[in-house]
This record gives sequence, structure tokens and C-alpha cells, in this order.
Amino acid sequence: KKYFPIRKGIIGQRKSVVKAVDGVSFTINKGETLGLVGESGCGKSTTGRLLMRLLEPTEGQIIFEGNDLLKLSKVEMRSMRKNFQMVFQDPYASLNPRMKIKEIINEPLVIHGYDKEKREKRVRELLDIVGLSAAHGERYPHEFSGGQRQRIGIARALAISPKLIIADEPVSALDVSIQSQILNLLKDLQKEFNLTYLFISHNLSVVEHISDRVGVMYLGKIVEIADQENLYKNPLHPYTKSLLSAVPIPDPKVKRERIILKGDIPNPTNPPEGCTFHTRCPFASEICKETPPTLRKVSDKQYVSCHLV
Ligand code: SF4
Repeated sequence: KKYFPIRKGIIGQRKSVVKAVDGVSFTINKGETLGLVGESGCGKSTTGRLLMRLLEPTEGQIIFEGNDLLKLSKVEMRSMRKNFQMVFQDPYASLNPRMKIKEIINEPLVIHGYDKEKREKRVRELLDIVGLSAAHGERYPHEFSGGQRQRIGIARALAISPKLIIADEPVSALDVSIQSQILNLLKDLQKEFNLTYLFISHNLSVVEHISDRVGVMYLGKIVEIADQENLYKNPLHPYTKSLLSAVPIPDPKVKRERIILKGDIPNPTNPPEGCTFHTRCPFASEICKETPPTLRKVSDKQYVSCHLV
């Protein structure tokens, strides 16, 4: 859980809380990609930042290879950190404009104590892995296109051989043709280095392309989680169905019935009682307004949080 207090007034009395992540629980298996989708403000990026411990959870556990990250000391956490890295949406904002690319990729290697010779070799290796040359290392971030900058972001993330990569909207700022290049690069790297990904995106087509399993978030909760095939062919939660109905099908003969949701996503400081989706759900009944549904197993590979299912 992650609740952000909202304070008001000169002395900052506590007013209310935003429940950005409210009881989210999932597992990511080694070597797989878990996609996390939902509208902006649903808590998916906060979830990613919690896993990285860039934010401290209000409550809960983060278990990585049997270790509860929240119970580790600062020193233990520092050595654990090399196992997970983040790739951000806006590669330009995450690259220091005053540093050469080779210096940017070198930075995590310095922090983790690699010697000079090993660092130089590793930087060359990383540039090659992401499809850039040693000459690119001598340039500055502004000399690159968006796709190349994301390759640099990926090279930096891979520098210390992490096991888990949390990619937060890594292709959202890129043109469609470049998006597929970066997605294919991520897939190739996953195969080559046995990487595990948490792939966060609002774009269901992108998530379908890369994920083994997909979790759908709404107002800080996971409302459906399933393997990729079940989620896209047989979505069960009304919210998942509505999101998928908006995804264009690349076949002019196939028509999909569009489910238009009523209104906007509710204010997270004052979420609706019962099922938080009931204010927009076309199937809402009395029970939905009073009793929150729980995430239930409906088959080996699919979990849904809805009274109707
Ligand atoms: Fe809709 Fe009710 Fe299911 Fe919530 S529990 S998604 S309101 S049918």
C-alpha cells in the first residue's frame, strides 16, 4: 500500500490521503514479463517505484529472491540494489545533458566499484549490446534521436547486470516504428540475459506484444490479472473489457463493439464505496455500491475482482 497524505494550511495539518496503491499483490516469475496497465493515475508507476524502493510503502512486503526488501539495512539494500534497475519514459529527461554517453553508462559501474579497465570494456560492450557503436559514446544526449536515447537508457540500466528491470512507459514517447524496435530489443535482451521485466504502460497493444502475463489496475487496485492469451481473448472484468474495446484491430473486416465508460476516473482522495469501479461500470448493481469485491481465482491463469464473475 502507498498512501500519500495531503496537508493543508500553514502548519500543514493532515487533511486526507490519496490511496495511490491500495492492497496490490502479485508475483513476477524469473525470466517473465509482467505487464501492468491502466489509465493514468491508477497507481501503476507508483507500484514500480515502490518495488525499486524509490518510494517507501505505507504497508506491505516486497520479497525479492526470498528477502523482504523492507527489512534490509541500508548497507544490505545497497548491495541488493544492483539486482534491479529502472528504464524511464522520457530518456532525455533521465540523461544528464552535460555528460557524454560513455560517462552516463559508466556512472553505475563507478558506484558499484568496478575498476577503470573493466568499466571501459563494459561500456563498449553495452553500447554494442543495444545497437550503438563506441563512437556514439563520445557524443552528448542532445545529438541522439528519441529511440537512440532510449537505447542509452537501456544500456545504463543493464550496466551492472540486473536481474529485474522495471520499465515505466519506456516506449510511450517514441514514434510507432521506433516503439517496435525498442520492444524487440527488450525481448532480445531478455532472452540473452534471462531478464525479468515489470513493464508498465497505458497502451494495451504494446503490453500485449511484450508480456507473458498482464495485470490491469484501477484506482490503486489490481482488478484483473491473467496470462496474456486469456486477458486479450477472454477478458472478464468490465474495466478490462472496456479498455480492450478501445484497442484498434488491424483488420478492416473485423469490427469490435466499443464499450464507452461513463464519466472520468473518480477522485482518488475520495474513492467510491464498494467496488471503486461502480460509478462507471455498465453492469453495476446494488451489491457493487456497498461491498468491495476481492481478487478471486477463476481459472489456473486468471484472477478477477468483480461480483459478476
Ligand atoms: Fe462492475 Fe460490480 Fe463488477 Fe464492480 S463488482 S466491476 S461495479 S459488476
